[in-house]
Amino acid sequence: MLKKLIITGVTVLVLVSCGTSSLGRKQLILMPAEQMDAMGNEAFKQIKQQTPTEASDDVNRYVTCVANAILKVSDSPMQWEIVIFRDDTANAFALPGGKVGVHTGLLDVAENQHQLAAVVGHEIAHVLENHSNERVSQEFAVQQGLGLAQALGNPQSQTGQMLMGLLGLGVQVGITLPYSREHESEADEKGLYLMAKAGFDPRESVKLWQNMSQSGGEQPLEFFSTHPSHETRMVRLNQAMDRAMKLYQQAQASGKKPHCKSP
Ligand SMILES: [Zn+2]
Repeated sequence: MLKKLIITGVTVLVLVSCGTSSLGRKQLILMPAEQMDAMGNEAFKQIKQQTPTEASDDVNRYVTCVANAILKVSDSPMQWEIVIFRDDTANAFALPGGKVGVHTGLLDVAENQHQLAAVVGHEIAHVLENHSNERVSQEFAVQQGLGLAQALGNPQSQTGQMLMGLLGLGVQVGITLPYSREHESEADEKGLYLMAKAGFDPRESVKLWQNMSQSGGEQPLEFFSTHPSHETRMVRLNQAMDRAMKLYQQAQASGKKPHCKSP
């Protein structure tokens, strides 16, 4: 516990201007992690005020079971919060500070725990790889300095709206500033390794994204924010599948066999 606190403290204190993602990509990271977390917390609070949450214990237990299995192998020192929102769109999102939102509509598209793990892994990967920080750094930090969290307190202001969009919440505020294709691919790949490490079958991710593209319709869902072509996504996932299958087999051998019961 003490070790965790120290690690968190150090992360907050160090203001890095340059970083590298876990998959080796160079990143521009200008925002202090503490500020990003504060923005994520504030945005999540607002969403919880605006959107009804799922009351069913079975549904909550199912999604939390999948998320916890992944978080256990993620080496993240954060305290994560998983909330299931009553919303028919097959969507999910994640925010800095370890906030994950899953829409009930997703449970119609993700047919089993492995497919749900593919989405949750993808979302957790966006947070672990600091994609929001990178996006805010690229768009805002240089011009506006670091007093951005205040803008979130006034989400109707122009800056507030842009910030919500940069956090990936364009749907809620009526504008969409999507993740880059690069971020989506990285979250797909990292998410694939995370689910496999947790003992979920990575091959199910391909089926999940197929289900998604069939049910996506006109919704501006997080996963299709930059409209990566269906084929490109499948090709990339299959390229990473050998490594993912090795992680999956190791997880199985070490007894990681999650049984999250679908309601
Ligand atoms: Zn994404």
